[in-house]
Amino acid sequence: MLDATPTNYTFAYLYLTGANGWLRKTVDAITDGGVRLAQKDVDEMMEMAPGETGHGAAASTSSNVEEHQAALRSQMLSFSDLTATALHNAGEFGRDLVQSAERATSASDLSGLIAAMIERTSQIEQKLAETRRETERLRQDLDAARDDATRDALTNLPNRRAIDRKLQSLVDQGRPLAVAFCDIDHFKSINDRFGHAVGDRVLKAVAETLAETMEPHIVGRFGGEEFVVVLPDTDSETAFELLEKARTAVCARTMRVRDTDEVIGQVTFSAGIATCFADPQEALREADHLLYEAKNSGRNRTVYKVAA
Ligand code: GH3
Ligand code: MG
Ligand code: MG
Repeated sequence: MLDATPTNYTFAYLYLTGANGWLRKTVDAITDGGVRLAQKDVDEMMEMAPGETGHGAAASTSSNVEEHQAALRSQMLSFSDLTATALHNAGEFGRDLVQSAERATSASDLSGLIAAMIERTSQIEQKLAETRRETERLRQDLDAARDDATRDALTNLPNRRAIDRKLQSLVDQGRPLAVAFCDIDHFKSINDRFGHAVGDRVLKAVAETLAETMEPHIVGRFGGEEFVVVLPDTDSETAFELLEKARTAVCARTMRVRDTDEVIGQVTFSAGIATCFADPQEALREADHLLYEAKNSGRNRTVYKVAA
């Protein structure tokens, strides 16, 4: 049995919420054959568990998300303290009760004992309610931090990190997939003619149309004016047909500058599609290469390689 220490609570929290995937896998591997965790195992894992940068789970880090996660960890520690205090109080209470019951000789002793019991029970209840509220707040913070870390702020689409993970998890499940690299054509000239803020709105509009038309497939913003579509269990011909629908939908939208009503003109994108069975990064490279062909052969088109 592990002691109720802050480290052990944090460890349990990371394991149970799945907040640290590495830790979860490692614990499951150790305990698979019914083996119990020793304190030494927990200490080693807390030291080794990768944070976002590959350092230990308790390491302090630099980026915003990582800072956020470090703050969450310290909140988890205070949560652990709170729980430990409630448990400690409950234990003390139990001991007091036994001692007092042994000494009680009269009815008034007993009624005093009962009054004390009621008082202590209500104190513990309050502490536990506090702990529950704190847990709920932590859970929400953690969900929000996880969401921030995987979404692009401008378009609200999954970001590159999320897409990379999605691809890897599909491959790990042994599911074949098609992946499309899409890049808006001559986007720089939209920025140059109408300004960066209008460029941003165009990006949001393209993201929206792409995501809607590709649904239920996953569209992510890979960076700049580049999007990636992940199509699980889809061959390249089917992916091509779907991408062509999305491409047509994007160029059918007449975009205007919101304030002046000035026509921006047709916004188009080019795309390259590759299939993937084993190495997602290799598939992305191939899709990018085919996108390059689409650009070179005139833009506003989709290129894919017919399976041999
Ligand atoms: P091509 O058809 O060859 O893709 O031409 P392009 O102009 O789209 O490509 P290029 O790589 O020359 O330019 C991409 C531009 O996208 C340059 C960059 O300033 C702009 N850009 C990247 N990210 C953002 C963003 O978040 N907002 C805005 N407004 N512009 C962005
Ligand atoms: Mg580009
Ligand atoms: Mg471009």
